[in-house]
Amino acid sequence: PARTRVAPSPTGDPHVGTAFMALFDLAWARKTGGQFVLRIEDTDRNRLVAGSEQQVYDSLEWLGLGPDESPRKGGPYAPYKQSERLDTYLPFVEQLIRDGHAYHCWCSSERLAELRKEQERLKLSTTGYDRLCHGKSREERALLPGFSETPVVRMLIPDDAPLEFDDIIRGTVKAPRPDDQVILKADGFPTYHLAVVVDDHLMAINTVVRGEEWISSTPKHVLLYRWLGWEPPAFAHMPLLRNTDKSKISKRKNPAARLMWFKEEGYLPEAVRNFLQLLGYAGDEEHEVSTFEEFVERFSWAKVNTVGPIFDLKKLDWLNGHYIRSLSADELTARIAAFATDIGQWVNPTDFALDTLRKAVPIIQERLVTLKDALPQLDYLLEADANLVVDPALVEALAENAAEVLDAAIDVVGSVDFDAASIQQGLKSGIVDALGIKPKFAFAPIRLAISGRKVSPPLFESMEILGRESSLSRLRSLRA
Ligand code: ATP
Ligand code: GLU
Repeated sequence: PARTRVAPSPTGDPHVGTAFMALFDLAWARKTGGQFVLRIEDTDRNRLVAGSEQQVYDSLEWLGLGPDESPRKGGPYAPYKQSERLDTYLPFVEQLIRDGHAYHCWCSSERLAELRKEQERLKLSTTGYDRLCHGKSREERALLPGFSETPVVRMLIPDDAPLEFDDIIRGTVKAPRPDDQVILKADGFPTYHLAVVVDDHLMAINTVVRGEEWISSTPKHVLLYRWLGWEPPAFAHMPLLRNTDKSKISKRKNPAARLMWFKEEGYLPEAVRNFLQLLGYAGDEEHEVSTFEEFVERFSWAKVNTVGPIFDLKKLDWLNGHYIRSLSADELTARIAAFATDIGQWVNPTDFALDTLRKAVPIIQERLVTLKDALPQLDYLLEADANLVVDPALVEALAENAAEVLDAAIDVVGSVDFDAASIQQGLKSGIVDALGIKPKFAFAPIRLAISGRKVSPPLFESMEILGRESSLSRLRSLRA
């Protein structure tokens, strides 16, 4: 059974990439009867953002990608937050120093910056740390310039460091030779590289799924596993998601890189999850729409793209429409109401409003793309008659016979059975047939009176929902 994990750093709004990795982590864990772990990697104290961790939990739960073990849920390998595990890392750092695989470095940040500048100026082929501190005691090093009181600890990368590793998705991968990586910072916190290896080992993670930008770090991790005498996990480096112009999606440039964006825009979690499933696999056209269970059933690493999948929101809109149409009217009503209340589109909806929404859902369900579109499309049904605003320019633009049409409509609406089919039939015979007015001219003034718009959801159904009194009042008000 696989033990997988996603290991986000709480440095801002969760990235859609985190959900993409979590989807594959969870699917592989379910496929093999294993577990999926969420670990919070918060060792970079300068980049912490309050609330970010909470958002990671909430957004993964929202997508149905909640972990089996996490800081919030606990589990057999707790704590799952790196800042609570500092005591765990130090003995391994000491062991690596004792064994000659790591060394203290007292170089000040000024010296390191100068070194880098000098290397750039000389266009050296081997760059990186020059090992000035290696083999020196504190006293020896203190005599040289660029000394800092609080040392870091660096890996001593050997000349024959293995640079190739096996990747589940990519086969044999070769990465560039690493620099003498810092593993313990001056503030006593481990860096990502040490903490990720120690935690993945201690938490019995056997499959590491992460973005391809970590390929270049993997040789360092493999060395640490070797030095500590541990079996490395299997690695699966997922492609990075790309914009339509092929650039990697990032939160700074694309709002959809923020996981919460999808929720705020009214996408259904099942549609977003399905969208991420599609992004992972190339050319899986016959399975475009599939539940998570089906995805797990057919799961195969061999199907995963190595080329960065294009993040095409048109596809997501299509999927969202599909999932919206597959909901019952009651379920869709509940989702729209919860969404609108959540984002503040609706404040304390009345029973009247909820009831109206429930009646109106069937007339918009076919064409609805996101939950966010629902209330704005239906505002004329939710508005009191007296508050309906009709743009005078639209009234002005009506044909000359509009008054005649409205009078006839008022007659019909006052007397027909009040269901959509009878209303339609009544208006057709009372206006189109009886007065010889073309449907286009017959219905435009009525639509404007009822909805305040030139284009609206279906007219006769709208009138049925409003009821006879309200419909009459709106027709009279435009006639006046
Ligand atoms: P930005 O996206 O603006 O760079 P950020 O700095 O918060 O924002 P990172 O910290 O680089 O993003 O990444 C956060 C997580 O999201 C990492 O685990 C990373 O692997 C993943 N990630 C980042 N970009 C992508 C992408 N284009 N596709 C998939 N995953 C990504
Ligand atoms: N903390 C890293 C990140 O934010 C985890 C990378 C990994 O999965 O190894 O992406």
